[in-house]
Amino acid sequence: MEFPDNSFKPGLTQLLIRRMTAAAILTVGAVGVVVLFLFNPEEHGAIYPQCWLHKFTGLDCPGCGSLRALHQLTHGHLVTAFRFNPLLVLLLPVAVWMAVCELTWQATGKKLPGITMRPWSWWLLLVVIILFGIGRNLAMFGGRLG
Ligand SMILES: [Zn+2]
Repeated sequence: MEFPDNSFKPGLTQLLIRRMTAAAILTVGAVGVVVLFLFNPEEHGAIYPQCWLHKFTGLDCPGCGSLRALHQLTHGHLVTAFRFNPLLVLLLPVAVWMAVCELTWQATGKKLPGITMRPWSWWLLLVVIILFGIGRNLAMFGGRLG
């Protein structure tokens, strides 16, 4: 086992807890992917959470269309997924890689070449998400971007 960062050397119990947590997260993620693959949110909306902003205002939040986009991605329909939520499709590979790096770190102590997020980059991401949320509702995008 390899723990290149000397500040992190968990005991056996901690390591077991970390591995079990990583396994639980992977299991929940895998179940989520299977559910999204099998049940199209457009046809089985009752089993998925609804967007309160869209429900009460008719506006699309930055996350609107994410489940439909993920469903399309599980079927390999990248363009259709992009139409439902382009920001999700663009950010998903980064998010998945960051999750893989973190879970690998937690489960094995091995560091994969990850993506370093500085504090300012989290703020930039927040600004991008807010601007996307505003932009997708503007008339200049036909009232709908994604
Ligand atoms: Zn929404």
